[in-house]
Amino acid sequence: MTLSRDECQALDATDPLAGFRAEFTLPDDRIYLAGNSLGAPPKSAAARVARAVEREWGGELVGGWNTAGWFAQPLAMGDRIAPLIGAGPGQVVAGNTTSIAVFQALAAALKLRPDRRVIVADLGEFPTDRYIAEGLAALLDGYEVRDWPHVGDDVAVVLLSEVVYSTGERRDVAEVTARVQAAGALMVWDVCHSVGAFPVDVSAADFAVGCTYKYLNGGPGSPAFLYVNPRHHGTARNALTGWYAHAEPFAFEPSFRPAEGVRGFAVSTPHVLSFAALDAALEIFERADLAAVRAKSLALTSLFIELAESAHPDLRLATPREPARRGSQVSFRHPHGYPVVRALAERGVQGDFRAPDILRFGFAPLYLRYVDVYDAATALTEVFAAEPWHDERYTRRLAVT
Ligand SMILES: *Cc1c(COP(=O)(O)O)cnc(C)c1O
Repeated sequence: MTLSRDECQALDATDPLAGFRAEFTLPDDRIYLAGNSLGAPPKSAAARVARAVEREWGGELVGGWNTAGWFAQPLAMGDRIAPLIGAGPGQVVAGNTTSIAVFQALAAALKLRPDRRVIVADLGEFPTDRYIAEGLAALLDGYEVRDWPHVGDDVAVVLLSEVVYSTGERRDVAEVTARVQAAGALMVWDVCHSVGAFPVDVSAADFAVGCTYKYLNGGPGSPAFLYVNPRHHGTARNALTGWYAHAEPFAFEPSFRPAEGVRGFAVSTPHVLSFAALDAALEIFERADLAAVRAKSLALTSLFIELAESAHPDLRLATPREPARRGSQVSFRHPHGYPVVRALAERGVQGDFRAPDILRFGFAPLYLRYVDVYDAATALTEVFAAEPWHDERYTRRLAVT
C-alpha cells in the first residue's frame, strides 16, 4: 500500500529525528538526494571554520599547534569517528584521503602475509580502491589483483566496500570477514557509503577505511580515516612513513622510528581547517541515535522504491529489495538515465548518474523528510512522462555527472 502526500506529512510530524533537519543548510527550492556523494553542510560548520581561521590560525599563529590542539587532531578525531564504526579509542587515525588510506591498509596487509601474492578487489566498486590496488601490485613485482569473490590460499588481502556505490547493495560484514579470515587472508573494509548512514561494525576486520564527506557531512575534501585492528598494532607497518607517524615527530631525528599504536599510521600535518568543519558534523552525530537513523533510512528507501518504480516501463530497480541488503540509497537502471537525471535536477530534485545507466538517489535520514521522498518520486514520474532524452539540452554531458 502506497502512502499519500498527507500520510507522508503525518510521518514527518512524528519522526523522532525531524529536529535534526534544522541543523543543516539546505536549499529551499531543491530536494537533495546526493548526500551519499557530498553531505549537506551543518549550519554550525561556517562559524566553526571561521573560528579556526580567525581565532586559531589568525589569533594563535604557530602557537595553535599547542593551544588549539592541532597536534592531537588525527587521533582525537579518530577517537570520535571510532564509535560510528564499532571501533574503540586508539584504533582509528583521521587524515589524508580514502585512496591514501586504502594504499596504507593494503601495503600493511601484504607485509603481514608475505607468502601470498594476490590482492582481491571488486570490479564493480568505486574505481579508486581498485586503481590503488593495481598500482600497489605494479609497484611490487610478482603481485596481482584478482576479482572478488576469489578467496584461494594465494590471497593476502581482500578489499571490499560495505555498500556498493553504484547499486547500493549492502554486504554482510560479519559473514564476509569471517569467511576471508578463515581462508587465511586479511580483510579491509571500505565504509565510505555506510559510515553515518547506519551503525557500522568493522571491529573484526583487520583494517577499515572511509571518508567523512558523504553521509557524515564533513564538507568537500574533508579528511578520511583508517582503522587498524589492535591485534596488528606493533606488527603492521605503515608504508607512508611521514613524520607524523614517527615516535617523536618533534625530536626531528634523522631516521624513521614508528610511533606505537594507530598513530604509527598517521602521515602528515593535520588538515586543520577541514577538521574544523568535520568537528561541527561529528558534534551532530554524537547526538544522533544511529539505530533510529537506520530505521528511518529503510523507511525512506522503501517508500521511494514503492513510489518511483513504476515511473517508466523500462525502469529497473538495481538496489536489493530486501531491506537488510540495502545501504541508504536507491539505484535504478534506465537506458536514458543521464538525460532523466539532468531534467530531474531542473525540476528541483538532485540525484546523480553513474555510467553506464544508473540513476542514483541517496537518502540522508537526518535532513530528509518523507514528504521529500513523495515529491521526488512525483517529479521523477513527471520527468519520465516528458521523455527528456529527445532534448539535446539534457543529453549533452557535463564534466561532472
Ligand atoms: C567516495 C569513495 C572514495 C573516495 O576516495 P577519495 O580518495 O576521497 O577521492 C573511495 N572509495 C570509495 C568506495 C568511495 O565511495
